[in-house]
Amino acid sequence: MKITYSVIAPIFNEKENLPDLHRRIADVMESTGEAWELILVDDGSTDGSTDLIRELAEKDKRVRPIIFARNFGHQIAITAGWDYARGDAVVIIDADLQDPPELILEMAKKWREGYEVVYAVRTEREGESWFKLWTASLFYRLIYRITDVKIPLDTGDFRLMDRKVVNVLRQMRERHRFPRGMSAWVGFKQIGVEYKRAARLAGETKYPFRKMFRLALNAVTGFSYFPLQVATFFGFISAGLAILAMPVVIYLRVSGSQAFFGQATTLLAVLFLGGVQLICLGILGEYVGRLYDEAKGRPLYIVRDAPEE
Ligand code: UDP
Ligand code: MG
Repeated sequence: MKITYSVIAPIFNEKENLPDLHRRIADVMESTGEAWELILVDDGSTDGSTDLIRELAEKDKRVRPIIFARNFGHQIAITAGWDYARGDAVVIIDADLQDPPELILEMAKKWREGYEVVYAVRTEREGESWFKLWTASLFYRLIYRITDVKIPLDTGDFRLMDRKVVNVLRQMRERHRFPRGMSAWVGFKQIGVEYKRAARLAGETKYPFRKMFRLALNAVTGFSYFPLQVATFFGFISAGLAILAMPVVIYLRVSGSQAFFGQATTLLAVLFLGGVQLICLGILGEYVGRLYDEAKGRPLYIVRDAPEE
């Protein structure tokens, strides 16, 4: 049977949300009157979500489970979804129902009009801490400024993509991924639809600060050389300052001034430049580490159970 819609939901310990997720997506997708599938990617859950996913798939043949051998992270789970999806349009949605499944209908309408990527733009967010809101907002704006692709502001991974786009994305096997950046990078006809982001239905965020920070690093390193160029910038600034200061210091010394006597200035200069150099080395390390990961060429994810066919 020809599948029109594939809906991908990455699952990491979402036991309480799964029944509602399945019900609401089934309701929405049934109303389209077209064939659809729901791909549930179990990203190494430890709370029994895995069994629940298997049960759902047992009862409803439209549910296709992909069970990972361990936790690989949200972005990799999305990638597995792309790999297994069979639909003409592929939707990514969070499992905690922060993204309303009903919006898929609006996205589908845009897709029928000929848009190839329809992303959801958050106009409001409910039930999230000011810290998360503030860091998220800062993050989107920073990425927008320093990366080479214009990733739309305030969009998450919730989006519908045409088969053509997914086929391109499937060829991009980079390990440290930033899916919303990748889907902006490929081009095609893109448009946003607005929505109000709800609070999590149940459970806690699976994105602690540590994971958010890693994602931000992936976004920056994956789409920009800006951090590497900062080193050049600092190099020119400090070399320039030194060149300007040299005649001044020589003059002061010759004229008998005591202004640059003592160790304090030397110590400060050494500490400052030493710090800058170490930071630049660290930045270089981020890129080199990623290069090394790519060179190893390990599989992006390991599936314990893949859907049949
Ligand atoms: N998720 C995942 N693997 C992870 C972390 C999260 O598959 O290591 C899933 C999670 O189950 C949810 C989606 O990614 O479906 C978004 O996570 P979450 O809602 O915790 O992020 P937030 O909305 O707080 O940014
Ligand atoms: Mg969430």
